[in-house]
Amino acid sequence: MIKPDFIAGKVESVTPNGLKYAGYTGQMHAAIYDVDGTLMPYHTHELSSAVLTYLHEMGEQGVRLFVASNSYGGRADELNELFPAELVERVVTPRDIAGEGDPRKFRKPSPAMLNEIMREAQLTGSETVVVGDQLLKDVVAARRSHGVPLKQYVTCGWIKKGVTMIDPNVFEPTITPETPQSVLVSRLGREDHPVVRLFQRPAEAAIRAVNHLPLLPSNFPDNVEMPSSMSRLEEAVYYQ
Ligand SMILES: [Mg+2]
Repeated sequence: MIKPDFIAGKVESVTPNGLKYAGYTGQMHAAIYDVDGTLMPYHTHELSSAVLTYLHEMGEQGVRLFVASNSYGGRADELNELFPAELVERVVTPRDIAGEGDPRKFRKPSPAMLNEIMREAQLTGSETVVVGDQLLKDVVAARRSHGVPLKQYVTCGWIKKGVTMIDPNVFEPTITPETPQSVLVSRLGREDHPVVRLFQRPAEAAIRAVNHLPLLPSNFPDNVEMPSSMSRLEEAVYYQ
């Protein structure tokens, strides 16, 4: 069962304090954000002042900020202008890590971009939070990814590539201390990539329904919360 660790109505709620009140026992030292539908509506060209202020505040609180987006072509170029170095530490798109290979293989739900960011920035999973609006892309990628192994990080700073503890099975991945936290946010804006809208959103809606996850923006809590293990109907009966 794929479930995010936390859900939130908007990205601005995902703060170290917000997560603490929601029950996160670790420390949020780094955040890796999806862009389209998370930090800004699909393929828009300007960050809202609310999101811009939020990112600046995160930076001031000492949270290291990263962007991992499946964007390609002109949109990938544009992201580097939208997120300059003084705002986020690094912007990664599939072509940045594909080398001679096919960039499409490195799109989320592949964990490749997240692993690359955490490896390069020396981040452990327990201090890293992955934020995105798609369960089957962002949350699955986070579940499959891993940061720098804690023990090696602490003892000698030596990084071993490919932690064998991670189960490659997407739907029942083994969660270890190296797995980053994942936050599913309500999609920002109404637009979507056509393929996502036609094929991926319906599948995602079905899986969210089975997992008792919010479907509509109005179903999301304003603040960060752990997802309920009960459906709305069960909740209504239980709390009567
Ligand atoms: Mg997205």
